[in-house]
Amino acid sequence: MQKLLNIVLFGPPGAGKGTQSERVISRYHLTHISTGDLFRKHLGEGTVLGLEAQRYMDHGKLVPDEIVIGMVEEKINSTADTNGFIFDGFPRTVLQAKVLDKLLKLAKGSISVMILLKVPEDELKSRLRLRAKISGRTDDQDEGKIQTRITEYKDKTLPVASYYNQQEKLVTIDGVGSMDEIFSKVCTVLDPLYESS
Ligand code: AMP
Repeated sequence: MQKLLNIVLFGPPGAGKGTQSERVISRYHLTHISTGDLFRKHLGEGTVLGLEAQRYMDHGKLVPDEIVIGMVEEKINSTADTNGFIFDGFPRTVLQAKVLDKLLKLAKGSISVMILLKVPEDELKSRLRLRAKISGRTDDQDEGKIQTRITEYKDKTLPVASYYNQQEKLVTIDGVGSMDEIFSKVCTVLDPLYESS
């Protein structure tokens, strides 16, 4: 069986995960799992899961692990034919990362690499302020929520980078520069993995 290319695209809010994911998907034909997008979809459809998640998203807090994990498990298990997955905004806690390893082991292999997009905090804040004007995302439109999301990232999400570092799967990329420059660095990491998959 062909080896799957499973990538975690990682970084704080505003690091450019969504933008780079789109490019990665079209170049490597991967299945996108963005937990933020999935929650917003549920919310738009008014599902129970969406309404539950909204209670946390509205405050810039992380949605509880059991809710996120159930949603991701369902998505992985319902994807039949794929070259692999790109996880965008997931895992955001060490528990999520551990469960993801187990889920992939059962079904699709393992994480090939985690790419961390590194961006200084001032730059993140100005990007989020700019995105607020275009995206209509309520969590981008409030300084307090932006700060909470950055604090949640530092407290609960950043330890996930150490988790993958211990597995020698962490690659850090400078996330400041043009989209093309950053994508070309992402490709330098992914091309060899794609060729060997
Ligand atoms: P994002 O679109 O990735 O910025 O996510 C928007 C919001 O969805 C976050 O601020 C969290 O409230 C929630 N969220 C998305 N992914 C996760 C996750 N993996 N764990 C917990 N909460 C999440």
